[in-house]
Amino acid sequence: MSRIKFIAGNWKENLTLAEAKALIADLSPLVAGISNVEIAVCPTFLALTTVGGKVAGTNIQLGAQNAHAVEVDGKLVQSGAYTGEVSPAMVKDAGAQWVILGHSERRQYFGETDESVNVKIRACYEVALKPIVCVGETLEERESGTTAKVIEKQVRTCFKGLPADKVAESVVAYEPVWAIGTGKTATPEMAQEVHGLIRALLAEMFGPETANAVRIQYGGSMKPGNAKELLAQPDIDGGLIGGAALKAADFSEIIKAAV
Ligand code: PEP
Repeated sequence: MSRIKFIAGNWKENLTLAEAKALIADLSPLVAGISNVEIAVCPTFLALTTVGGKVAGTNIQLGAQNAHAVEVDGKLVQSGAYTGEVSPAMVKDAGAQWVILGHSERRQYFGETDESVNVKIRACYEVALKPIVCVGETLEERESGTTAKVIEKQVRTCFKGLPADKVAESVVAYEPVWAIGTGKTATPEMAQEVHGLIRALLAEMFGPETANAVRIQYGGSMKPGNAKELLAQPDIDGGLIGGAALKAADFSEIIKAAV
């Protein structure tokens, strides 16, 4: 099965509204006409509607970096007394098609767990918002030889009990924590090994058809110089890009490497 490559930019806590508008103004002509790669940018919540207005009518899609959901008495809650939070329904209402969930920075600094990600994914499915679900091992875990075990626990728990048809439209981002923002990249072989493992796990959980439909992005210091060889691996279906997504020239080069 051929999967359409998907390159998404995670802007993190960066860019004022003026800077966000300027980045889209620079980026959109550089990638106009590319139709065989899906492209998304994920600004802060505050910039979602502004950036959404700028990308409307282009080939650039919109995503958020997080969304909040809890389950109370067996019901998914999309609004209420949760000061400072934004639900999947609100993210969708702001015009986003995608949301990044379980990013390692959210796991590290904000207490995100595989269990909370599972609830969030279900709340996203409820409002037809598509998740980009991040998994990845720390340096310590890689060095102690537990990468496969860590990834298996993350995938099994995040995707537990989910409907296969919705899983098929979801994206997994394999982001080795030691490679995020560090300039260190997994070799294409190292990344492929984990991507293959993730697909095998999804096949076991949801069947081969669903597993073959899921795009698995690589994230962790992906740059114009290393994108092509990473994207050439059979199970690497795109990239989740941090630092390099803040520069129109670099981000567009990565997108072109996926064409
Ligand atoms: C990320 O934060 O998702 C990421 C991959 O960052 P960077 O590209 O900067 O390593």
